[in-house]
Amino acid sequence: MMVPYLDLTQSYQNIHGELKTAFKRVLRSGWVILGREVKEFEEQYAQFSTVSYCAGVGNGLDALILSLKALCVGPGDEVIVPSNTYIATLVAVSRVGAKPVLAEPKKETYNIDPKEIEKVITKKTKAIIPVHLFGQACQMDKIMAIAKKHHLFVVEDNAQSHGATFKNKITGSFGDINGTSFYPGKNLGAIGDAGAVTTNSKKLYESVILLRNYGEVKKYVNTVVGFNSRLDELQAALLQVRLKHVWQYTAKKQAIAEIYLKELTGVGDLVLPHTETYATNVYHVFPVRTKKRNELQKFLNRKGIKTLIHYPIPPHLQDAYKDLGFSKGSFPISEELADTSLSLPIFPEMTKQQVYAVIAEIKHFYKGQ
Ligand SMILES: *Cc1c(COP(=O)(O)O)cnc(C)c1O
Repeated sequence: MMVPYLDLTQSYQNIHGELKTAFKRVLRSGWVILGREVKEFEEQYAQFSTVSYCAGVGNGLDALILSLKALCVGPGDEVIVPSNTYIATLVAVSRVGAKPVLAEPKKETYNIDPKEIEKVITKKTKAIIPVHLFGQACQMDKIMAIAKKHHLFVVEDNAQSHGATFKNKITGSFGDINGTSFYPGKNLGAIGDAGAVTTNSKKLYESVILLRNYGEVKKYVNTVVGFNSRLDELQAALLQVRLKHVWQYTAKKQAIAEIYLKELTGVGDLVLPHTETYATNVYHVFPVRTKKRNELQKFLNRKGIKTLIHYPIPPHLQDAYKDLGFSKGSFPISEELADTSLSLPIFPEMTKQQVYAVIAEIKHFYKGQ
């Protein structure tokens, strides 16, 4: 049986009528940049995130860059980020001229370890970017307490955890200002690039609104050197449709995760995802770990089952970050995760047969070992 890693075709097909209606609405309006659709999506996403303000922007990277800019983080500043994140988190820090400082995750949750954050705080530290990786919320009570104690800003990177909660509070509502991505493969995905900033601060919100549109306070009047990072009307209209379905998508992914967890416990040397009792997990990714990662991936691929590796090279070993001066062994936990993790297919449209086919082939792999 063929099992893709993700099937966007099916996802779009299931809501084809609604997407078409939204598309037509934008075509009919003749207004395609910064209009009613963006405003409405922003209101809906602010409500979803239980915050006062949301600003739609071009993508997730820009959401983080504009958040840091709004906080006046820049050259000479240090920003603490997890050592096992997607590179965008570090790039955002670099792009505002600050220095990313890495802290190791907890192996069990893949999320930044609050104890490791405290170890790397210096006089130059300005902010922490916790990343709710793979769908599980970070330990936000501890992280917020550390930030308060050391007078640091918190910018959540919520690109992978739309709808996840920590002690019943939704991610993207904890930090001073937070960034998220609606990259098509994310739990809440646009049909192209898109992102958003969420905050309870009117001042920070207004700053992002200014920065995303050339620093323009009114037409052809510019008060700061800004960016062009606008969420467009079409994506905003399509995102309103996707947002209506996001809890249903989440529930379906969680149901698949439950089956994987039940059926794969004790199989071979697999280490399954662990969700802390304080958190909910929206399973953007379902990572398993095994010493036989590459063999298992090849085996499943031969059987028509597609998997991914999140992420094969940790940021500190990327050529792009040579300048940070790290080498193999600098962040052993992140390196181990990179060497042993394999992400199984998980998407709302996945059929029960597909889920059980993945399970059967994994068992089959270990029987042959
Ligand atoms: C996807 C992602 C981003 C960046 O989002 P884009 O919309 O692709 O720019 C940032 N951080 C994390 C953790 C992500 O997964």
